[in-house]
Amino acid sequence: MALGANLDDPQAQIRCALRTLAALPETRLVRESSLYRNPAVGCRGQPDFVNAVAMVETRLAPRELLEQLLAIERAHGRVRDFPNAPRTLDLDIVLYGELQLHEPGLTVPHPRMLERAFVLVPLAEIAPDAVVPGRGRVADLVRAVDASGLVKLPDAGA
Ligand code: AMP
Repeated sequence: MALGANLDDPQAQIRCALRTLAALPETRLVRESSLYRNPAVGCRGQPDFVNAVAMVETRLAPRELLEQLLAIERAHGRVRDFPNAPRTLDLDIVLYGELQLHEPGLTVPHPRMLERAFVLVPLAEIAPDAVVPGRGRVADLVRAVDASGLVKLPDAGA
């Protein structure tokens, strides 16, 4: 799944969210990407985003997983003022294996993932061989996006 934040110490928000994901029921955090700084898209004058991607193994169904992610967002104090408004934390299901879902309120793969360098670059870091159903391998898809604005941040412990 993809994580993004641009308010209230976004690096801390993302690191905290990763720990929260690792504690979800019936879920194991398998891998997490580096954190990346990314200029806000769609809304000028906003603080930069910090983005990352995590891979989990879970017994939760997609809808159950989404409910958990929305609860984590709420716990991080996200307020939905207007589309693309600054947010303390945004969590998206990007891929769920090679499942394809198109339901009200839940589309997987995430419909905008292929145009988002801030999703594809960290995803390629941890899962280059993952397949986006009908579209191909992440390692190939990442070459099509402009990643010039992304800056990989040093590890917290480094
Ligand atoms: P936003 O966080 O503004 O991108 O939108 C969140 C809403 O998008 C949620 O309330 C979900 O119902 C819906 N949504 C649709 N597909 C997904 C997905 N793959 N991951 C997360 N949210 C999704």
